[in-house]
Amino acid sequence: MTVVPLGLPSVQRPSTPAPATGPLIDTFGRVATDLRVSLTDLCNLRCTYCMPAEGLDWMPRDQKLTPDELTRLLRIGVTRLGITSIRFTGGEPLVVPHLEDVLAATTALQPRPEITLTTNGIGLAQRAAGLRRAGLNRINVSLDTVDPARFAAITRRDRFDDVIAGLHAAKEAGLQPVKVNAVLDPVTGLQDAVALLGFCLENGYQLRIIEQMPLDAGHSWQRDRALSADDILDTLRRHFTLTPDPAPRGSAPAQLWRVHDGTGVVGRVGIIASVSHAFCSTCDRSRLTADGQVRNCLFARDETDLRALLRSGADDDVLEAAWRAAMWAKAAGHGINDPDFVQPDRPMSAIGG
Ligand code: SAM
Ligand code: SF4
Repeated sequence: MTVVPLGLPSVQRPSTPAPATGPLIDTFGRVATDLRVSLTDLCNLRCTYCMPAEGLDWMPRDQKLTPDELTRLLRIGVTRLGITSIRFTGGEPLVVPHLEDVLAATTALQPRPEITLTTNGIGLAQRAAGLRRAGLNRINVSLDTVDPARFAAITRRDRFDDVIAGLHAAKEAGLQPVKVNAVLDPVTGLQDAVALLGFCLENGYQLRIIEQMPLDAGHSWQRDRALSADDILDTLRRHFTLTPDPAPRGSAPAQLWRVHDGTGVVGRVGIIASVSHAFCSTCDRSRLTADGQVRNCLFARDETDLRALLRSGADDDVLEAAWRAAMWAKAAGHGINDPDFVQPDRPMSAIGG
C-alpha cells in the first residue's frame, strides 16, 4: 500500500476512474469497510463543541432518506462495496422512531455487518434491550464529565441522570463493552478526564477521549484552546498507571492504553488524537448523511448526492458507481493542520460523528 504523507496534499484529483469492482478503495490504496450513517441532524442536547444554543437550520423532512431508501443504500454498501461494519449516529439517533426497524433491516443483510451505535444516551434506558434484540452489537455513549452541573453547562441541558441510566441499561442489555465517548472542555477537561476514567473503571465501561475537532456549527474552535492527546495522557498518567495496549491498532482511531492497579490490568482507555496525531493514512471510513450524501471524510468539502440519484430512478449499478467515485477521490488527509484549512460547512451534528 502507498504510504500516505499526512497534511499534504489535502485535495486529490484522481486522473484515472475508480475501479468498477472490488472493495471501496481510494487512490492511496485505503479500503473503506466501515460506514458511518447519520440518521438525523436533530438532537435533544446542544453540546457547545457541536451545536449552537439555537438558530441552526434543520434539514427539511422531505430531504431526509426514507427508511426504504436508506435500507437500499445499506444493501448496496454491504453486498456490492464490501462494507463490513455500520455505525449509526447523528444528530441523535435515538430521536429517530424507525431506528429499531433500520437495525433489523441491517441485521438481515448478507454478509451481516457488525452494527454499532453512537448516542448521547437519552432514552437509552428504555430502549437498550430492544436495540439489542433488533441486532445492535455494541454502543458508544457520549459523556464528557461526571459532574452533573458541568454536564448541564456543556450540553446546555439538565439530562445527566438520563445518560447514567442509559449507560447502565446498555450494560444490563449485554451491549458490552459499553464505550464512553468524551470530548473534553478546554477549561475543566483535565479534571473531568481523571474523574471519568475512575467512573468508567468502577462501572466496567471503556473510556474513549476524543480531541475536539473544528466541526462546531459556530466555527469557534481554536487550536490553542483545545486539549491535546498529550496533555490528556500526561494528566491521566499522574493519577493512573498506564501501559500501551499490545493489541495491533489496525485502523482504529483510538490509541489504547491498559490501566493497572496493584493486582493487574483493571481496564482500558483510548485516546483519539484526530488533530494532534492524525490517523488518516489508515482510515477505513465512508460516510452517509441523513439527506443521502456520501462523504469520503469528516472534513470533506465535496459530497456525492445519492438521494438525487435514487429519486431520479437510478439503478443499483449507477448508485454503486457514484459511491465508488466519491471514495476514489478521498484526500490523503483531513488537512486540519494545513495553513489553508477550511472547516466544512456542515457541522458535526449534520455529518455524523
Ligand atoms: N448525538 C450522539 C452523541 O453525541 O454521541 C451522536 C452524534 S455525535 C456528533 C457523535 C460523536 O461526535 C460524539 O461522541 C460527540 O462527542 C462527538 N463530537 C461532536 N462534536 C465534536 C467535535 N467538534 N470534535 C470532536 N468530537 C465531536
Ligand atoms: Fe447532540 Fe451528539 Fe452533537 Fe451533543 S455531540 S449536540 S448529543 S449530536
